[in-house]
Amino acid sequence: MSAAAASLSASDAAPLREIVGFRQDDEGQWVAQLACGHGQHVRHLPPWQIRTWTQTPSGREAVLGTTLPCRKCERGEPADA
Ligand SMILES: [Zn+2]
Repeated sequence: MSAAAASLSASDAAPLREIVGFRQDDEGQWVAQLACGHGQHVRHLPPWQIRTWTQTPSGREAVLGTTLPCRKCERGEPADA
């Protein structure tokens, strides 16, 4: 019996993807562009979602190369246009 690859978390299995850039959507909200080709909103909507780092170029630059869990990869969605 192999003990490897035994414990997979079923609840939070979204794979981590590197942030390679940013764009803004039609509403001016920031979207992180991930290495997998998907985009993910990183909204700054106080008081619910505090992401002050999205509001400055230096703040966004600081998170390049870090990772976000990609729900679209988890769901097997095609890459965003
Ligand atoms: Zn993805």
